[in-house]
Amino acid sequence: MDNNNIRNFVIISHIDHGKSTLADRFLEITKTVDSRNMKAQYLDSLESERERGITIKMAPVRMAYSLNHKSCILNLIDTPGHPDFGYEVSRALAAVEGAILLVDASQGIQAQTLAKFYSAKKQGLKIIGAVNKIDLTDKETVEKEIKELAGLIDCQPEEIHKISGKTGEGVEELLEAIIKEIPSPKFQTESASSKALIFDSFYNDHKGIVAGVRVFNGEFKISDNAYLIAVGQNFKIKELGYFKPQMESAQKISNGEIGYIATGVKETEKIKIGDTIISSKFKVESPKLLALPGYQEPNPVVFVSFYPENGDDFDNFKKSLERLKLNDSALRFEPDKNEVLGRGFKIGFLGKLHFEITVERLEKEFNIKVINSFPSVSYNIKTKGNQEYVRIESAGELPDDFEEILEPIIKIEIIAPTGHLGSVLGLKEHFRMEKIETKNLGERILISAEMPLAELISDFDDRLKSVSQGFASFNYEFADYRKADLKKLEILVAGSKVAGLSKIIPEERIEREARKMVEKLKEILPRQQFSQAIQAVSDGRIVARETAPAMKKDVAGYLYGGDRTRKMKLWKKQKKGKKKLLEMANVQIPAEIFKKMIQ
Ligand code: GDP
Ligand code: MG
Repeated sequence: MDNNNIRNFVIISHIDHGKSTLADRFLEITKTVDSRNMKAQYLDSLESERERGITIKMAPVRMAYSLNHKSCILNLIDTPGHPDFGYEVSRALAAVEGAILLVDASQGIQAQTLAKFYSAKKQGLKIIGAVNKIDLTDKETVEKEIKELAGLIDCQPEEIHKISGKTGEGVEELLEAIIKEIPSPKFQTESASSKALIFDSFYNDHKGIVAGVRVFNGEFKISDNAYLIAVGQNFKIKELGYFKPQMESAQKISNGEIGYIATGVKETEKIKIGDTIISSKFKVESPKLLALPGYQEPNPVVFVSFYPENGDDFDNFKKSLERLKLNDSALRFEPDKNEVLGRGFKIGFLGKLHFEITVERLEKEFNIKVINSFPSVSYNIKTKGNQEYVRIESAGELPDDFEEILEPIIKIEIIAPTGHLGSVLGLKEHFRMEKIETKNLGERILISAEMPLAELISDFDDRLKSVSQGFASFNYEFADYRKADLKKLEILVAGSKVAGLSKIIPEERIEREARKMVEKLKEILPRQQFSQAIQAVSDGRIVARETAPAMKKDVAGYLYGGDRTRKMKLWKKQKKGKKKLLEMANVQIPAEIFKKMIQ
């Protein structure tokens, strides 16, 4: 089939610069979505996306448009802007030939503008620049941003589009530029077999696992036999078609197109993102040689243990996680156990927002409520007499006799208005930033520094936003593991260690953190019939302690009058009961308390 009427492209930008809103205008102009059904940020379909007003998942949609009496197929993929969802973006980039790089004229080039631009460039995509929200911004600012963006992309300022995703101004011209400037998909000629790259997947009760694919060679037809290369699985294509953006079935999907293939396969481990589907029509000796490059798997950086609130939900939790992973291939998980909370999973995430969204998706899409541990980064540690470093991913795994601990360090780049330099640098101590360098970018300044990843996942995001009134943005990448003065802080209640409340923190923060934790525990721990000692211990030393008083209850109170012996008997019985309770005390930390401590 002639595929020179196909254009595949993504919209990329810093978060909130208007990608999903621009996609809305494209959906309208191409009449892909009926005006009666149109709603703002139409492609943000997950409940979490709509509630938070952000994009989490890439969203493909196929549109049709005629230019000079020639009909074209436009496959757009909307992408998320937050750095935690960078893996979604990189998978989308590998499925297309072009990118629209948007810049909000009122914000200018931000940290994620740069990060997304460099990824698209590395992928060899044709990049079309557009300055957005011109309805909000004065002419002068718009012209200035156009110059800056042209400088970044290395094109003429006249080539940058001036648009408003809100009013639609300039959007039709942009659509035409996409058709004129983005190359149509190329034929791959070196192999006879039909090939498709899996860039996303999800579970459907009727169709089994559905793969979002970009066809790179040949074509696929309904009922064809096909083969998944990485896992070595045969299947018969149950249904295939396009995203409009809902699934719309077709007879075939062909080279250069983006669409879906319903596999009918139910076992979640059989589908791998980045795998290649080939048609079984062609007998091939070694299918592995036909595999498309696929994707480099991302490395999780934040680790959190999860336990279902209701212990009986464990199997359901496991199944839900497996299905969620189909749709969020960055998730990594392995079984985990906690003395109080029971069986669960330790899950690796690409950042704190990724972790928070996962909790939300489990609850909203799978009805699973979870209790989680403190988020932790991974550490490399060395114990006495051992030469080798061992990787740990939670404070609980840190042995008491460790000798050396290395923590992950990131390189962070912050872009802020020049006037905010002082307040951003004010964060230096608190977040242990080092090797700070600044570079002037006109009205903005680029601040680069090194800092521990653990600091980034505390509350860096919020603090940076608040000290810069929302005008600073950042991007980061992993640098290396570095030796640090870190200590383990543990909490004991009535003499028993509370697994799950341990933390790894810098030595100079031990005292303050210890006080905070014991005070909070004293406040929220349910009263028992005996008083309970709450201790914070580090390095074998009690750093802070509090006592949660006993519940006041006079068991003999109702025996007014003189019968002293009966009273004595009751008091004795109560004492005995208390002793028994005390023995059980280490399992008396209710799950609710964990939740409160960790928040
Ligand atoms: P995304 O994160 O890049 O997908 O950004 P969204 O499309 O979700 O838009 C972020 C916010 O900017 C929303 O409140 C939009 O209504 C608003 N917005 C997007 N484009 C424009 C525009 O051209 N003009 C104005 N005034 N607001 C816009
Ligand atoms: Mg969006």
